[in-house]
Amino acid sequence: MGDREANIAFAEKRLESCPQIKTFKRASIYETEPVGYTDQPDFLNTCVSFMTTLGPEELLDLTSSIENEAKRKRTIRWGPRTLDIDIIFYGDEVIDTPRLTIPHPRWKERAFVIVPAKELKELDVKVPEDGGVRLFRSRV
Ligand code: AMP
Repeated sequence: MGDREANIAFAEKRLESCPQIKTFKRASIYETEPVGYTDQPDFLNTCVSFMTTLGPEELLDLTSSIENEAKRKRTIRWGPRTLDIDIIFYGDEVIDTPRLTIPHPRWKERAFVIVPAKELKELDVKVPEDGGVRLFRSRV
């Protein structure tokens, strides 16, 4: 919702300026048709990768506070929101706690995750064919 590109830029700036985050890389931005609740504007999606000394739960605390700062308002599951940050991978770790499931459980089904993530990391998966994902802005 709102200025979608500015919301992404805001999140990236907050992450990149975190002292515990280094070697920050960003993928291209893609425009994506909504999944689930489809009566809403198209989404912008991207992926970033970085090295961090933050543990997974500390990283989730950071991404949650960035979402809150972006005044995330959401009343419908999968509905419109200003910003949604998911942690897809944390190194090779497999994490299953009440707060975190990593790798993210649905990443393989989602072209809007796989397409930008493949720009940053080799992934041995096929992009789902009808992903409804188109390039919005190239940055890599
Ligand atoms: P959602 O807003 O639908 O992305 O859900 C956010 C909640 O999902 C957070 O409060 C997290 O505790 C939980 N969660 C579980 N696994 C993850 C993950 N890999 N990345 C981000 N949030 C996660």
